[in-house]
Amino acid sequence: MTEATSPAPDGGHRVLKHPSISFEFFPPKTEEMERNLWDTIKRLAPLAPSFVSVTYGAGGSTRERTHSTIARILGETDLIPAAHLTCVGAACGEIDEIVGRYHEIGVRHIVALRGDPVGGIGTSYAAHPDGYRNSADLVAGIKRRHADVEVSVSAYPEKHPESRDFDADIDVLQAKVDAGATRAITQVFFDNDLYFRYLDRVRARGISIPIVPGIMPMHNFKQARNFVTRAGTTVPNWLAEKFEGLDDDADTRKLVAAAVAAGQVQKLAKHGVDTFHFYTMNRADLVFAICHLLGIRPRGAQKAA
Ligand code: FAD
Repeated sequence: MTEATSPAPDGGHRVLKHPSISFEFFPPKTEEMERNLWDTIKRLAPLAPSFVSVTYGAGGSTRERTHSTIARILGETDLIPAAHLTCVGAACGEIDEIVGRYHEIGVRHIVALRGDPVGGIGTSYAAHPDGYRNSADLVAGIKRRHADVEVSVSAYPEKHPESRDFDADIDVLQAKVDAGATRAITQVFFDNDLYFRYLDRVRARGISIPIVPGIMPMHNFKQARNFVTRAGTTVPNWLAEKFEGLDDDADTRKLVAAAVAAGQVQKLAKHGVDTFHFYTMNRADLVFAICHLLGIRPRGAQKAA
């Protein structure tokens, strides 16, 4: 984390801590998507994220693409990659092999997840008969074989849709921490109060690992709303109202999306949050602008006094 001085509202100077940031990408499917991802990575890399993560397709569908994206990030940039991995559709041996391959090429950070049921969100989850039973089991499996691998996990400010209640939800977080996880990244949320209430609950249980807010600028509101709602995130009416009438106006939608996400992170920062994880959707523009508003400048560039 870097520090800079900035003028305080009263005209004096105070020391501000620059937030620590990380970016999430998904593995590209086509050559065009690959070019787009690399343009995005090149634009965002100078913001010096503490790590960048690459998701793992539902049911392991992107196993090779996630690996090759991670390998290329390691080979062609100074960024520290984190590979997402789920328990779904694979025996423990296969998962161990994937982790082993990552370890061999120098990956030292895994985002360990249970994953969604094979039948999709809303259907019941059944572990692979020879697989890791759940996310905590996966975290333990990774740490047992590779103590030098940092493991991050998920957290749910609105609780996971399958959770009975917050207590049960936080029991699972506790089990992941006990197994060796040292950071949780939250599911996207739009109401900061939900995050702070969740944080209070987690801290009250004595869990002290960072609970990093996951921030999603909504490039395409309608599409994003469908996607996040299925994963259990509430989209408040005030947010929907901000995008009303903009279905055919992508330029204005983009400005509104940037303003909304920038407002959210600035309010979180004002309340002491100093670490953010951005769901980039493989696009740089909004995330770059939001980071700029957080005071983050590309490496080598000076912030105006
Ligand atoms: P866990 O943390 O293990 O469980 C989540 C909650 O579900 C628990 O709190 C628990 O209360 C409840 N729960 C779990 N199992 C049961 C059960 N059997 N019965 C009752 N309740 C249960 N998905 C992907 O496919 N690929 C990715 O790359 C990916 N990346 C993600 C990154 C982040 C930061 C987040 C927040 C989610 C990501 N997901 C990803 C989605 C995730 O796989 C799903 O939300 C999945 O349904 C739960 O996996 P988990 O590891 O979060 O579950």
